[in-house]
Amino acid sequence: LLFQVNGHSLDSNAQDGESLREDLQEFLGGEAPLHRVDDLTRVNPVTLETVLRCLQARYMADTFYTNAGCTLVALNPFKPVPQLYSPELMREYHTAPQPQKLKPHVFTVGEQTYRNVKSLIEPVNQSIVVSGESGAGKTWTSRCLMKFYAVVASSPTSLESHKIAERIEQRILNSNPVMEAFGNACTLRNNNSSRFGKFIQLQLNRAQQMTGAAVQTYLLEKTRVACQASSERNFHIFYQICKGASADERLQWHLPEGATFSWLPNPERTLEEDCFEVTREAMLHLGIDVPTQNNIFKVLAGLLHLGDIQFADSENEAQPCQLMDNAKCSVRTSASLLQLPEDVLLETLQIRTIRAGRQQVFRKPCSQTECDTRRDCVAKLVYARLFDWLVSVINSSICADPGSWTTFIGLLDVYGFESFPDNSLEQLCINYANEKLQQHFVAHYLQAQQEEYAVEGLEWSFVNYQDNQACLDLIEGNPISICALINEECRLNRPSSAAQLQTRIESALAGSPCLGHNKLSPEPSFIVVHYAGPVRYHTAGLVEKNKDPVPPELTTLLQQSQDPLLMVLFPNNPKEKTQEETSVQGRAPVLTVVSKFKASLEQLLQVLHTTTPHYIRCIKPNSQGQAQTFFREEVLSQLEACGLVETIHISAAGFPIRVSHQNFVGRYELLRRLHPRTSSGPHSPYPATGCSGPSPHSEEATVQSLLQDILHTLPALTQAAATP
Ligand code: ATP
Ligand code: MG
Repeated sequence: LLFQVNGHSLDSNAQDGESLREDLQEFLGGEAPLHRVDDLTRVNPVTLETVLRCLQARYMADTFYTNAGCTLVALNPFKPVPQLYSPELMREYHTAPQPQKLKPHVFTVGEQTYRNVKSLIEPVNQSIVVSGESGAGKTWTSRCLMKFYAVVASSPTSLESHKIAERIEQRILNSNPVMEAFGNACTLRNNNSSRFGKFIQLQLNRAQQMTGAAVQTYLLEKTRVACQASSERNFHIFYQICKGASADERLQWHLPEGATFSWLPNPERTLEEDCFEVTREAMLHLGIDVPTQNNIFKVLAGLLHLGDIQFADSENEAQPCQLMDNAKCSVRTSASLLQLPEDVLLETLQIRTIRAGRQQVFRKPCSQTECDTRRDCVAKLVYARLFDWLVSVINSSICADPGSWTTFIGLLDVYGFESFPDNSLEQLCINYANEKLQQHFVAHYLQAQQEEYAVEGLEWSFVNYQDNQACLDLIEGNPISICALINEECRLNRPSSAAQLQTRIESALAGSPCLGHNKLSPEPSFIVVHYAGPVRYHTAGLVEKNKDPVPPELTTLLQQSQDPLLMVLFPNNPKEKTQEETSVQGRAPVLTVVSKFKASLEQLLQVLHTTTPHYIRCIKPNSQGQAQTFFREEVLSQLEACGLVETIHISAAGFPIRVSHQNFVGRYELLRRLHPRTSSGPHSPYPATGCSGPSPHSEEATVQSLLQDILHTLPALTQAAATP
């Protein structure tokens, strides 16, 4: 009862009498200072406003972690706080008898997770889902957890085994700079924004040592390689090469000092370039030798030159588009770096091949826009395959042998809910993923917890939580849903306008409560009411993006490369047909972006379902990335987006700590002995047993009188506790 009502840890062994008295008096006398409230279930009443005030007070007091029942809220300090992440502190959390009694920290979650794997007779895999909007600190938090496990789960004593362990831990940590160099970029929201989702499985052996890891990535934003929004940048690696290459390498890769490229915007902002050495070093640790690295960088330089191939509009439709001034040189350089025949490269970009039936092939010159699209498509194709290849190389370098690990801790660093003025397929996928994760959270925590109360026979009025099944039905349901309709448009391959798609979606799914009322909008669009709020998706380009078409000639072109890396990425295997070729022949369904994403998401959820999940919600206190700045409006919308208040309500109303009856009696027997009233009669305010006690809604007066009793008992209690 005590735990449940005030959230205090009334433990005479762990707290000295004074702080226990302070805590109790604080409770009896009214509110604790807000910055001292380290669990949001203790703010009173639990509303968005009070939660916000508490987080603000804590942030201003340089306290960045707060518990919210079963989740941990992590506020981004936007300043270095080295003492908060020191190895000493890691060990303190690791060795604490009860880490949850220390200040809330990401290490508490790390340690709890680690102990859960260890302490159970039947080991259960664990997962930590880190969510939050761009720039909130997800990647930082995941990295921090990886470092924590590298310290606490490292191999012990023996020198040789220590060396091996050090190598594997270091390798796992080294995967971060490499993946960030190739998969992160500077955006308007975050200077080091991850442009892909990541699930890393840290593999532990029976002795709880980290023996390896496996990485799974999701939906790399490959369009960035050829198209960057104004004030944003390309992937870090391009800048690292241009800034960090040696004089010799500059010559080989045709990257003279100060050269500019159209796919390298905002190069003046010096952010990550100095990391080239770090990236190379990390690649080396992961087993990517210097010649292979140089091969990768040469191909990337080839892409930069490819981006400078600019076409002029053709006046005669029957003639291929002409090249702009200087573009000839870019064709030559790009072809030489990618080891492609120069004329074939140019012709493939300029001329489309149309197949009619099995035999006939027509060649049609492309418009300027089509040429640009084909050029961009080559770059996206190369970059996406390169990224996937890198992930597989990393995996083969860090993955433990199947027999050498028994359990894992999974870390999910996934893009948060997004709502921009202009939302398209990317946001639909991201928000769909968030709906799925929210459902997982609801099912695993909110629902499971309440069902457990029912099983235990506790008096409990079911707290309603927002079930997002209707929204998921709208997005992914069968047979009719947004994804199904977009996929069908791709399959039918018919010309349909954005307005037609809007009409189809709105009429076919009119019955869904989650299809928002689409008031007059200048552009064709539809609204989905997500658990985190309504989002308007524009239908223009949606079908095309979903098809993500790769003209077969482009794959054929890349298969002609003599470059060793491109030969691996694009094996010249006549059996390897592109999607278009296969689907033209009507043999296989088109694998759209949405269907691939859905499949990978389902796979992820299957894995998550086999684990005990833990949740960390990262919050960005301001969009400027400034320390000591807390913008209430911005935080408010993030709290709403992650449904935090709802979570706190259930945690606050429920029993945040579960102790077996035997343990409870063992620990608090002393109270009964010191105060005989505890054992008196059927009307005693003290619970007789752990599970048949008063309901969570017992009157506060009873609790207050109970606490007063304890307060009076304290001197004797402290004395008794101090007596051996
Ligand atoms: P995205 O979705 O764009 O990838 P993210 O949630 O992964 O964003 P991070 O890259 O982890 O965001 O964090 C953004 C920046 O905030 C970091 O580069 C770092 O400067 C700062 N930051 C985040 N967490 C902390 C922290 N605990 N201490 C100090 N700085 C932090
Ligand atoms: Mg990130």
